[in-house]
Amino acid sequence: MLVVTLCALTAADAYAQAIPDSVRQNAMLLRDKALQDSTAYDIVESLTMEVGPRLAGSAGDAATVRWAIELLTSLGFEHVRGEEVEVPHWDRGALSVSITGPFLQSLVATSLGGSSGTPEEGIEASVLRVESLAELREKSLGEVAGHIVYIDHVMERRKTGGGYSASSRIRSCGHVVAAERGALATVIRSAGTSTNRIPHTGSMLRNSVPGEIPGVALSNADADLLTYQARSGEPVTIRLHSTARNMPKALSANVIGEIPGVGDKADEIVLLGAHLDSWDLGTGAIDDGAGIAIIAAAAKLILDSGQPPRRTIRVVLYANEEFGLSGAKQYASKHADKIEKHVVGMEADFGAGAVWQFSSRVAESSLDIVDELHGLLEPMSIERGNNEAYGGADLSPLRKAGMPILGMTQDGTNYFDYHHTAADTLDKIDRDDLQQNVAAYVTAAYVAANIDRDFGWLPKDTKPSGTCAAEDD
Ligand SMILES: [Zn+2]
Repeated sequence: MLVVTLCALTAADAYAQAIPDSVRQNAMLLRDKALQDSTAYDIVESLTMEVGPRLAGSAGDAATVRWAIELLTSLGFEHVRGEEVEVPHWDRGALSVSITGPFLQSLVATSLGGSSGTPEEGIEASVLRVESLAELREKSLGEVAGHIVYIDHVMERRKTGGGYSASSRIRSCGHVVAAERGALATVIRSAGTSTNRIPHTGSMLRNSVPGEIPGVALSNADADLLTYQARSGEPVTIRLHSTARNMPKALSANVIGEIPGVGDKADEIVLLGAHLDSWDLGTGAIDDGAGIAIIAAAAKLILDSGQPPRRTIRVVLYANEEFGLSGAKQYASKHADKIEKHVVGMEADFGAGAVWQFSSRVAESSLDIVDELHGLLEPMSIERGNNEAYGGADLSPLRKAGMPILGMTQDGTNYFDYHHTAADTLDKIDRDDLQQNVAAYVTAAYVAANIDRDFGWLPKDTKPSGTCAAEDD
């Protein structure tokens, strides 16, 4: 009996050390308030209705920077500013794609970000269909040259969104592998799960090969049409015409606001991130208006609690995530001398589905804090994930430098029905799910900003990324 009592005491002491009672109580109050708070919905409604599409470098992008500065100012954050970022600027122009034989069909398609246009007379050529990048890599120049390559990979629907990595890899690199073998253009089945006649855009990696070729994505339904004809055994020809073009670089900004910390840990930063830009087809509600709304509303609740946090809470709305992570790279280089002051980062960039799992990427010695924090999230049906959280694309430079991450995994079952499409609009956002997200973020951010301990620091990740080499597939 005595041993049992001692163990219980020891556990209770350790418990009290990680998250003190007062912090725990306030976090629960904020969490419960967030579940009833409509601020996030109001934010994403304003962004999508008043600004809408905001592709990097466009007029909509510039309007979003102004909107974001106004938003963070009106919410009452301090040190609100735009930090200049140079971004690529691409214009999709007009596109037409049709099958010219054996059975004539017009196809619903969209240009991929960064695609060059076709010559004025268009491109008409026979189709070479493959199902994967690996299959394309095995083809010789003689088999590919002079053809339009069609990469017919069906994205898997998964709660984790896990089917996206294989599909987006094809979108990013298909044209590189095809161009190396002399293809005239690439056509891919959309990296998305919509069964409507709606194509999904997204970025192609650029400057990887001389002589860029056009890249377009077909809606899944239109990909079915092309696949049917390609399987007929008869030669299939396609005609493409596109006026897409890459324009001179433009200026955008990372928009930042803070709740300054008070006391001995005020120079330490809890970073909350999301991205300002969106693709041009929809109004960027789930990608990433929802993310902006979630983190801004979470920080606002902490501000309104009237008790300044011990650590500074910094909201960073990144420029140009979609087309090369310009803002994330700029932030990491501008703040390079203070990177180790970022005690933890959280990013919201996976829509507005409810959070179902809480993962982390922290030092082993800090896992007890995370487990205890999970206890505050569990009543919202959030399970504990592993300690290999990704965090999000915009946090990647800081994550690679060793910054710990807290990850809120959202339900992505339907996310890729709308992602990067014209259907990414406000009506796809469920208010209750959005508020549950805010509750999860505010709980974790408040705890991270107010506990004595931190989450440690992780080893640097030096693995290169952003290439289309086979070993990175
Ligand atoms: Zn996004």
